Amino acid sequence: MKCGKCRVNMRERPEERMGLKITVQECPRCGKSLISMDDAIRLQQRALSRIEDVRTVVSVGNSIGITLPAALKKILKKGDKVHLIWDMDAMEAKLAKA
Ligand SMILES: [Zn+2]
Repeated sequence: MKCGKCRVNMRERPEERMGLKITVQECPRCGKSLISMDDAIRLQQRALSRIEDVRTVVSVGNSIGITLPAALKKILKKGDKVHLIWDMDAMEAKLAKA
């Protein structure tokens, strides 16, 4: 494959992103890099399949709350019921859409 801007052959190199092995085409002249559409789709699926973040506990009246990442707005909306399971031994929370 040739760089669309420089018209020189791009170099292929393996790379690991988000735990996936992908192939990157890189122009030795301008540094432009490309990945295949298949690899882009695999990376997008990986990104959407797991959300992990550190959140801050806030006060909500007499209760406490944790805001959820904006990406979850595709799944949950204000007023939806959520089932919370708190495992005291593991100190872990699990949420499920009720
Ligand atoms: Zn180039």
